[in-house]
Amino acid sequence: MTRGHTVGVIGAGMAGLACARELAAKGFDVTVFDKGRGLGGRTATRRAEPNLRFDHGAQFFTVADPLFREVTDDWLARGVVAEWIGRIVRLENKTVIDSSRQPRYVGMPGMSAMAVDLAVGLCVRTATQITAVTHSAVGWTIVTEANETVGPFDTLVVTLPAPQTAGLLGSHHFGAVASNVKMTACWTVMAAFESRVELPWEGAFVHDSPLAWVARNSSKPGRAREANCWVLQASPEWSAAHLEASADRVSKDLFEAFAAVVAGPMPSHRYVVAHRWRYGQCSEPDERRMLFDPKMGLAVCGDWLAGGRVEGAFLAGIKAADAIREHRDQELRDS
Ligand SMILES: Cc1cc2nc3c(=O)[nH]c(=O)nc-3n(C[C@H](O)[C@H](O)[C@H](O)COP(=O)(O)OP(=O)(O)OC[C@H]3O[C@@H](n4cnc5c(N)ncnc54)[C@H](O)[C@@H]3O)c2cc1C
Repeated sequence: MTRGHTVGVIGAGMAGLACARELAAKGFDVTVFDKGRGLGGRTATRRAEPNLRFDHGAQFFTVADPLFREVTDDWLARGVVAEWIGRIVRLENKTVIDSSRQPRYVGMPGMSAMAVDLAVGLCVRTATQITAVTHSAVGWTIVTEANETVGPFDTLVVTLPAPQTAGLLGSHHFGAVASNVKMTACWTVMAAFESRVELPWEGAFVHDSPLAWVARNSSKPGRAREANCWVLQASPEWSAAHLEASADRVSKDLFEAFAAVVAGPMPSHRYVVAHRWRYGQCSEPDERRMLFDPKMGLAVCGDWLAGGRVEGAFLAGIKAADAIREHRDQELRDS
């Protein structure tokens, strides 16, 4: 019934792909656009030579919602994700405190695996940055960085971090909503060592340090243990204070902070690279999950409307898809 209704989805992170997949399953004609070369947005996996892999964005995800539980169980059954059993601690005042034992899941063999799975069978255009969107009587038209005009689409779904959503939707009311949402930066260092770093845990929430989180990436299931890969993530405060610092400077500073955490002999490193997430996480997410303007056929969703995490982003995408489908069904009944 809904075949022929076209939807353009901007962003191939968890929100965009969950939305696109749900709509495609209901017969909508969906095209997804992402500026990145790969899929997953902030559920990212960085590959580096030789044979190094780092989850430099989201570290793991947890599950609370029954629908996301169902999806995660299916991913577990098919080997798309696995539980990370490693010991996770908090480091506070030189004390090691075990963190809660709630199940933590990771993509296999990297955090982008969930996005790759969601995208199967979808029309996704990667390496396509959208620079403008316009609405007219025929629907939504999208302009790419290469100045290509795509569309029109009956419905547009924008799933970018809040500041980028605001930039794209400028004059629309949703642009104004997005412009009021603050997102914190996160400097992340990916480091590989010649041998094992001797610490009695696999991941730690760090206090009283430039670092907020460190993880033995190689301890996650499906990763090569002998690669000795670590991910070191700075606190929002430190990242904000060093937002425009050079990647080399940041690598050096955060590496030193890690040495202080290890507080003992460290094997020599063979790879250290820093990555800046300018719009890393949302400190005070709105909880509406998505915004929908049925008159214009515009939906906005993403983690900044849904708890600021992987699970929230996924559920936001599904909720946006539900709203679009319900509206379309109503239109069909009315016509
Ligand atoms: C360092 C870090 C650590 C984190 N750790 C965790 C964690 O451990 N657990 C957890 O649950 N969550 C974590 N998160 C949060 C989690 O990654 C996000 O909540 C979730 O991935 C957001 O998904 P999304 O689809 O809303 O947005 P995104 O993943 O950001 O997707 C948006 C997409 O839009 C694309 N895009 C942007 N602008 C344009 C444009 N103009 N044109 C085309 N495409 C565009 C981007 O390339 C991106 O792929 C972390 C995030 C960061 C940065």
